[in-house]
Amino acid sequence: MIKPLLLRVPPITAHSDESLAEYIAEEMGIPKSEITGIRRIRQSIDARSREVMIQVQVEVFINEPFQQFKIQNSKFKNVSAANPVIIVGSGPAGIFAAFKLIEFGLKPIILERGKEVSERRRDIAALTKQRIVNPESNYCFGEGGAGTFSDGKLYTRSTKRGDIERILHLFVAHGAEERILYEAHPHIGTNKLPKITTAMRKTITEHGGEFHFNSKVSELIVENNICKGVKLSSGETVNAKAVLLATGHSARDIFFMLHRQNILIEAKPFALGVRIEHPQQLIDSIQYKCTLRGEYLPPASYSLVHQSQGKGVFSFCMCPGGIIAPAMTNPGEIVVNGWSPSRRNNPYANSGMVVSVEAHPLPLPLGGEKSPTPTLPIREGDSNTSPPQWGGFKRGLDEALSLLHFQQAVEQRAFVVGGGNLQAPAQRVTDFIAGKTSSTLPGNSYFIGTTSVNLRDVLPPDISRSLREGLIAFGKKMKGYVTEEGIMVATESRTSSPVRIPRDKETLQHPQVKGLYPCGEGAGYAGGIVSAAMDGERCADMIGSACLKP
Ligand SMILES: Cc1cc2nc3c(=O)[nH]c(=O)nc-3n(C[C@H](O)[C@H](O)[C@H](O)COP(=O)(O)OP(=O)(O)OC[C@H]3O[C@@H](n4cnc5c(N)ncnc54)[C@H](O)[C@@H]3O)c2cc1C
Repeated sequence: MIKPLLLRVPPITAHSDESLAEYIAEEMGIPKSEITGIRRIRQSIDARSREVMIQVQVEVFINEPFQQFKIQNSKFKNVSAANPVIIVGSGPAGIFAAFKLIEFGLKPIILERGKEVSERRRDIAALTKQRIVNPESNYCFGEGGAGTFSDGKLYTRSTKRGDIERILHLFVAHGAEERILYEAHPHIGTNKLPKITTAMRKTITEHGGEFHFNSKVSELIVENNICKGVKLSSGETVNAKAVLLATGHSARDIFFMLHRQNILIEAKPFALGVRIEHPQQLIDSIQYKCTLRGEYLPPASYSLVHQSQGKGVFSFCMCPGGIIAPAMTNPGEIVVNGWSPSRRNNPYANSGMVVSVEAHPLPLPLGGEKSPTPTLPIREGDSNTSPPQWGGFKRGLDEALSLLHFQQAVEQRAFVVGGGNLQAPAQRVTDFIAGKTSSTLPGNSYFIGTTSVNLRDVLPPDISRSLREGLIAFGKKMKGYVTEEGIMVATESRTSSPVRIPRDKETLQHPQVKGLYPCGEGAGYAGGIVSAAMDGERCADMIGSACLKP
């Protein structure tokens, strides 16, 4: 017999199948030896009451041979001699599009500006330890895209946009733990993702797909409003019937390229702010209402939202037991993000803390009279000597890139205010609220180092105002959250793309250029690993049906 059960048990009971079986046997009044296995269907933490409990939905196998989860590993075809489709970018959108194309019997040719995982790892180490930013190989660019050295949280709110289970099963088929299939908030961890990414590449190439690293696309080949292929920065051209453009939110050169080629793009709202970090123990004590978490509960997380003067202030990409990572893609800018290892065993809890930025009205100019002058060009085409334009962007032609320029300006400002050596500007939470520079900064996980500044000299005034208001509200929701042990590190600016590449709702092709499929986070249709992967699949579905039409 297979008995479905919904249980609410203490963490120590849910911790292992062994202890769960003991509990179930006792509850059902049967000998434990009759339970041949337990399959967890769904599991979540319920921290609402004083005693934290685990809610777990299971199937109990009683005197019945136990069947493991059946991993849905797709049936891929050999496509080595099939019609090629170009995929620009090997992030989750590109990789999952490739899987789908192989199922259709089409040959994905993945063009990736960065390097493969092992080499990319060295560039990330050089960034962290020697402060060398490689614009082609960093936390955002390279094999697996921004997903490879990400935190690997695999949940999304876009549940209706695709088959999440299929995505998770493909992760498990390539080495992720099975628990991601039942946990309410599945997480892989940065230490495990690179191996999974490499395994995914192996599946694609073994079935005849191609991966080309160090292959940066610099131009689309468009004839009579039909995309015929791409040109690489090396001068080489690659032709195909369809081009899926999945270059992520940090590929500014792609947005400039589209603009230059008169291919319609538009400004898209995004969010801007800081990474905020607290001691993990403090977050545990607030969320679990305890002094010590104990060994059976995972490090606690949180999710916070507030409305301030029509703007959303919210926590984003929370990383319990995590690290604040340098996620810039160019020298001369500071961008931070967060990740954690699979065990989430670092002493700090970090999260993006951001404010929504709308395209209309255009954001206010940054800073005040004390604005330092950055030494770097602020936009493509500016010379090193021209002073930066803090906001006040031209309308008309430039409007599509207005939020991108704004985002870039804040990042460059953070670089200058931080001291120009990749140290990140930072401030204690209490001092930010009080409006004064911190005399000292608390210990934190940003390895390169932090510089004490008044973050109001980095962030635009309306963002600072909303952040302050939001933090005060969050301090009331989570007693102890506003503390001098909390540090804010600028800038969390790559929350999503500040540009959208439009596409037809039905065909998912660009409205002006047939055969061009804007895809994933960079095109403005995803925010995170799973949603990008689902968008990749959706675009591949459209390419599959268009290319296989007689
Ligand atoms: C540190 C960090 C932690 C994160 N944590 C999480 C998390 O826990 N959960 C989550 O859901 N999301 C997380 N994210 C975000 C997530 O990684 C992205 O949302 C996701 O990777 C977007 O997928 P994508 O395929 O659309 O684009 P990307 O992953 O950005 O991939 C784009 C690819 O295109 C390539 N490319 C760009 N320009 C060109 C060009 N001209 N020619 C050729 N190739 C090009 C890039 O090198 C890159 O490999 C994190 C990101 C970072 C940086």
